[in-house]
Amino acid sequence: MRIAIIGSGPAGFYAAEALLKRSDTTVHVDMFDRLPTPYGLVRGGVAPDHQNIKAVTRVYEKTAARPTFRFMGNVCLGRDISVDDLRQHYHQIVYAVGNEADRRLGIPGEGMTRCTPASVFIGWYNGHPDYRQAQIDLSMPRVAVIGNGNVAVDIARILLRSPVELEKTDIAEHALEALRQSQVREVFILGRRGPEQAAFTPVELKELGEMEGVDPVVAPGELAGCNIPASEGSSQQEKNLKILQAFASRQPLAANKKLHVRFFVSPVEVMAGADGGVTGLVLEKNRLVTQPDGSVNVRGTGEKETLDVGMVLPAIGFAAKQIDGVPYDKKTLNIANEDGRVIDPVSRAVVPNEYVVGWARTGPQGLIGSHKPASAYVAGHMAADGAGLEGRELPEPDAILNLLKQRGVQAVSFGSWKKLEEVEVVRGARRGAPRDKITDVKAMLGLLQE
Ligand code: NAP
Repeated sequence: MRIAIIGSGPAGFYAAEALLKRSDTTVHVDMFDRLPTPYGLVRGGVAPDHQNIKAVTRVYEKTAARPTFRFMGNVCLGRDISVDDLRQHYHQIVYAVGNEADRRLGIPGEGMTRCTPASVFIGWYNGHPDYRQAQIDLSMPRVAVIGNGNVAVDIARILLRSPVELEKTDIAEHALEALRQSQVREVFILGRRGPEQAAFTPVELKELGEMEGVDPVVAPGELAGCNIPASEGSSQQEKNLKILQAFASRQPLAANKKLHVRFFVSPVEVMAGADGGVTGLVLEKNRLVTQPDGSVNVRGTGEKETLDVGMVLPAIGFAAKQIDGVPYDKKTLNIANEDGRVIDPVSRAVVPNEYVVGWARTGPQGLIGSHKPASAYVAGHMAADGAGLEGRELPEPDAILNLLKQRGVQAVSFGSWKKLEEVEVVRGARRGAPRDKITDVKAMLGLLQE
């Protein structure tokens, strides 16, 4: 059975692992990535000061070492190969393309200079080739981060953490240099609902209070009415409340940077100055409204305030990008699917032999480890649906490589990636970091041709 997996992030690697472990048939996996480097979110999304999370790539390396696995980096679906090419060369296809687009706020001023979506800011500090040239201006003292999820928390931490701590991480060199010059002293994390509805997880929230020279600030009034447990509590909500309570009772030091965690406010307009860049953010105060089904929503009270900030970073969730030939669901902003089987979004008929895993299937939810069972579940569908498919004759396994060569595409093997990695590790050692990433695709390909 020959299977193509598009995308080499966690969901793609966990799907490969489950497929390659099948005992009923021999599976050959070709994994494509549009970048010469593997690991998707782990390399381009996970915050640099969370190196322990990145250690998961050791598991993916074991999968990549299997003799029936090939990596083909620098091959972009929709540019270098088409869905039709894949259908010709493989029995089954798995889309593991993640969520590379940002959800939109839909408010006036969104998109102006210094109103920068999370994916751009994260890609910039993580050295993602798409965002290495992003114009990130850190000359202002105050910044707003919209959203109460772990991405908002990551962004706030990177903005405020001392560069001395960051230089020991794999943060991109250009970002480290910009953060060394940063004038940012205050960050506001803005939640539209209350502390009890916040999406961030306790470990990540607690870390905000552990940064050198940074005080978390929570107005005690914002916790009023919350059901704060006497002890630490066991649920995410209870733990978050205890941490927020501790923040609220902390005495901030005048010399420290401030990280304000605020609730019950929705952004309604991004204000622009004469240079066309952000000069403020208009917020509307909210009150909570419980729906008949028990879910908690917000309603604007009409009361407004303008936050004096020079940059706005919406971190309100992501969406899958549309790829030519891959059915897209405009409502969920993901690849159209039913339980991981790709479907036509209009007729809802199953597209045979095509599957989707990870965030492109479900939207941006769950920690990295949760993709292991989720991808294995879809691999189970593939085994059940694909009985006998391996009997269909396909072109030779190397035909896909020849096709790419004919088209002038320099596919990067896993072995070649390891060479790039060696270079990054040597460069990183100079500043005591695990690696210093190469951020330019041309430079990567050039190194491999030397
Ligand atoms: P998320 O957890 O879904 O949080 C999104 C936040 O944006 C929510 O607070 C949401 O509020 C808010 N929001 C959505 N639309 C909004 C709007 N129009 N106006 C104002 N606020 C709005 O998403 P995420 O932070 O992007 O994280 C994605 C996934 O990655 C999560 O599973 C997260 O745990 C994971 N992650 C984990 C780590 C880690 O482990 N360290 C780091 C980063 C990300 P409502 O709740 O009111 O909708």
